[in-house]
Amino acid sequence: MAWKKLDDLDMAGKRVLTRVDINVPVHNGVVTDDTRIQRITPTINAILAKGGKPILLAHFGRPKGKTVLDMSLRVTLHALEAALGRTVAFVETLEGAEPFTQEALNADVILIENIRYHPGEEANDAAFVKRLAGLGDIYCNDAFSVAHRAHASTAGIAALLPSCAGRLMQAELQALESALSSPKRPVGAVVGGAKVSSKLDLLSNLVEKLDTLIIGGGMANTFLMAMGAKLGASLVEAEMLDTAREILIKAETKGCRVILPTDGLVSRAFKAGADFEVIKLNENTTLDADQMVLDAGPEAIKTITAEISKLNTLIWNGPLGAFEIAPFDTATMAAAKIAAAQTLAGDLITVAGGGDTVAALNQAGAADDFSYISTAGGAFLEWMEGKTLPGVAALG
Ligand code: AMP
Repeated sequence: MAWKKLDDLDMAGKRVLTRVDINVPVHNGVVTDDTRIQRITPTINAILAKGGKPILLAHFGRPKGKTVLDMSLRVTLHALEAALGRTVAFVETLEGAEPFTQEALNADVILIENIRYHPGEEANDAAFVKRLAGLGDIYCNDAFSVAHRAHASTAGIAALLPSCAGRLMQAELQALESALSSPKRPVGAVVGGAKVSSKLDLLSNLVEKLDTLIIGGGMANTFLMAMGAKLGASLVEAEMLDTAREILIKAETKGCRVILPTDGLVSRAFKAGADFEVIKLNENTTLDADQMVLDAGPEAIKTITAEISKLNTLIWNGPLGAFEIAPFDTATMAAAKIAAAQTLAGDLITVAGGGDTVAALNQAGAADDFSYISTAGGAFLEWMEGKTLPGVAALG
C-alpha cells in the first residue's frame, strides 16, 4: 500500500480536487440509477468534515474532447444535491484566472463540467494537467473505475499536488490487495463466461498466483476441446486451442490446480426451459453436431462447491453457464450461494467483479454477502490481469 488515504492529509481550508465517477444512467434528463453517486458521498462528506472544499472532476459519456450538449454533467446536479443534502455549484468553464465565482465558492461543493470536453484530458496534456492542478491544493482520487486510464484527471494531476485515495478507491484497493497481492491462502478463482480470448491475460496472471482455478462457462468448452473433446454446436474458440493448452501447462508448472467441469447440461436449443441431458465431459466426449454444453452438470457442481469450501479467498469473474436462461443458471447459482454462505460464516473472503458477474451474483441473491463486489469492469479486470493501473500508480 504505497498510496495515501484521505485521512493522511490535512484538508482544512484547502480546495480538494476530487476525481469521481458519476457516469450514471440518464433517461429524459433524469438520473435513473444513482448508485454511483451514492458511493462517492462518504468521500465528499469526509472532505467537508475535514474542512476541505470538494471540487468534483468527472466525465460523462465520451464527448472526445468536444462540447457535446447532451453529455453535460449538469444532469447529475439534482441527484448529487439530494444524495449529499448539500448545495452543489455547477461550473461550466475553466477559463480565466479564477473560474469559480463567489457564488460557486459559497456552495458546499463544486462540480466542474464534463472534464472530457477538454482534449487535454484524455491526452493527459501537460498544459491541461497544470491548469487543472492550479484549481486546487490537494488531489483526491475516488474513481477506481477509470484508474486504468492515464488521463489528466485520473493520473497526470497526481504528480503536481499532494494526493490521496478517496474512501471508495481505498475500499476497492484494499479488497483487491487482499484478494491477489497478499491473500489468505488457499486462494482460488472461479473464471467463467463466454470466451478464453477475452480473458487470456486474466487466466495467465491468475495461474501464477492461485492455488486453484475453477474454469466454467463457454471458456471451459475450449479447454475441453483442447484436451480432445468434440463438443458439437457448443460455444468454443477453435483458434484458441493452443493457447488453452499453454495455460494448462503454465498452471502445472506454477502449482495451480485447474478444475474443469466433468459433466454438463447439454441441450439442442439455446433457450430458457429447453430440454437437456446430463453428459460426462472429458477428452473422449463426442456430442452430436447440434448439441451444446450450456452449464456445468451435477457432478461438476459437487466438485466446484467442495473446492470453494477448501478456500480462504475466492476471486470470481464470469458465470459458469448461460445463466440468463434457466435451467442453465444452475451451476452459477449453486456456486454463488455456497460462496456467499461461507463468506457470511466468516470462512471465506470473496471478491468479485467484471461484466456479467455482478448481474449473475445479484440473480443468485449472493451479492450482498460477498466481501467485495467491484463495479469497475475494465479497471477490475486489468488489476486481476496483473497490470499496473496508471491512476493507482500515480497515487504512490
Ligand atoms: P463474459 O462476458 O465473457 O463473462 O460472458 C458471459 C456470457 O457467457 C453470458 O452471457 C453467458 O450466457 C455466456 N455463457 C456462459 N457459459 C456459456 C455456455 N456454456 N454456452 C454459451 N454461452 C455461455
